[in-house]
Amino acid sequence: MTTALATLAHFIHGTEVAGASGRFGDVYDPATGRVSGKVPLASKAEVESAIADAQAAFPAWAATTPLNRARVMFKFKELLERHADEIAMAITLEHGKVLSDAKGELTRGMEVVEFACGIPHLLKGEHSMNVGGGVDSYSEYSPLGVVTGITPFNFPCMVPMWMFPIAIACGNTFILKPSERDPTPPMILARLLKEAGLPDGVFNVVHGDKEAVDALLDDPRVQAVSFVGSTPIAEYIYSRGSAAGKRVQALGGAKNHMVVMPDANLDQAANALLGAGYGSAGERCMAISVAVCVGDATADALIARLKPMVEGLRIGPGCQGDPDMGPLVTGAHRDKVRGFVDAGVAEGAELVVDGRGLQVAGHEQGFYLGGCLFDRVTPAMRIYKEEIFGPVLCVVRVADFDSACRLVNEHEYGNGTAIFTRDGDSARQYAHNIQVGMVGINVPIPVPMAFHSFGGWKRSLFGPLHMHGPDGVRFYTRMKTITARWPTGIRAGAEFSMPTMK
Ligand code: NAD
Repeated sequence: MTTALATLAHFIHGTEVAGASGRFGDVYDPATGRVSGKVPLASKAEVESAIADAQAAFPAWAATTPLNRARVMFKFKELLERHADEIAMAITLEHGKVLSDAKGELTRGMEVVEFACGIPHLLKGEHSMNVGGGVDSYSEYSPLGVVTGITPFNFPCMVPMWMFPIAIACGNTFILKPSERDPTPPMILARLLKEAGLPDGVFNVVHGDKEAVDALLDDPRVQAVSFVGSTPIAEYIYSRGSAAGKRVQALGGAKNHMVVMPDANLDQAANALLGAGYGSAGERCMAISVAVCVGDATADALIARLKPMVEGLRIGPGCQGDPDMGPLVTGAHRDKVRGFVDAGVAEGAELVVDGRGLQVAGHEQGFYLGGCLFDRVTPAMRIYKEEIFGPVLCVVRVADFDSACRLVNEHEYGNGTAIFTRDGDSARQYAHNIQVGMVGINVPIPVPMAFHSFGGWKRSLFGPLHMHGPDGVRFYTRMKTITARWPTGIRAGAEFSMPTMK
């Protein structure tokens, strides 16, 4: 018996609109390997029609008071709490991550909504009285217009929620182009925003691939582009969007190192590496994929702890039982990650735990890969240089702290990093000197809270502003500074020299 596949729609002007391009992508249930739905891939014309709707909705939304915009966010937050189980299940069914992790992702997204509830305060400008005789100066923040977010598969709710709550609360209208691999969770968010009272056209979801993205990048009505995804696409988005005169923030890939010093609590370090390396099957931009052990004794003791832990990972469907790790997102991605493991073996790294043969009983067609652990990885190897984005942890051995820092600083990516030590001096030096955007001290995944900003350095971020927090408000607004002179300050006659306040 065959069951009809669910076909998703776009969400434009508060309505679900069927795809008209005739092009569709397959959506999988990674736990079973079966196709679970079809996602429409928008044509340029469909994207342009969504932009026109968002453009039409902008003036009224921009004129809505910040307090009333915040009230929609408060209501949205309540609805998210009420629908948390349904949203988490939708994430697990298309992404594959375990339910507790899906709920965690939603919570981190909801924290940005909570931050956006404070928008009347966040939009307060600066004011200087009497900068000259009878002259006052003040700044104000205005929304940009239609803005867009293009997001990756690995956080189908959280990453869009890094963007749209702040963009909308600032008075912009938003078009989300989510990942075509797990498109259902953003549709639930769209419905809840409407239920929360958001006017039609303020938040729109257009599914698609390169054709839809290029249409968003090229259209002069789109004022700003937020992107999160792999580095080659981030670079492409940044250059094409900037060339079209848009404001762009494009977050890319990562290779996050955790330095383990000889004085670290190794039980704590091993637990941290297990969660940060294998949680969400390593499909996190803040996953730790390299453990840098200072000294052979540290490496030997850490591997002795990690080996049984990695072998003992409980792996299965994300919504059954309570596994540690689910499948990877697609069969193609699982094969790519497995190819990296093959390459590491061929390059001479020591494969301490080999997860390539894993079979999950009853789910033989699911996209599973067991946890893999490499020792004696060197900087010249592909498994060290490239982002694997799977459950593969590489141990690199170095002689001392300075070599560890050099290694991290020389890597092309600079998203997140951590140091495990009891020594305050090494921790302080590491935090201040390392060329990475987010640093943890005995914290393996140092993802900043919503009221701080998230972003990497080097080839992990293109553009000057990080996401959410204060940078998010700055990104989605433009500042105007007004200088006003009142009659008591007006001097007689024309002035031809550069105005100064005498
Ligand atoms: P991806 O780059 O393949 O896709 C991201 C988005 O770009 C998707 O919406 C996709 O449809 C679109 N896209 C893909 N190819 C395109 C093309 N040729 N032209 C235009 N648009 C295109 O990334 P992914 O596989 O979905 O996500 C995993 C990647 O995202 C990893 O590299 C990971 O490190 C990165 N990531 C980074 C962060 C961060 O904060 N730096 C956070 C999450 C994920």
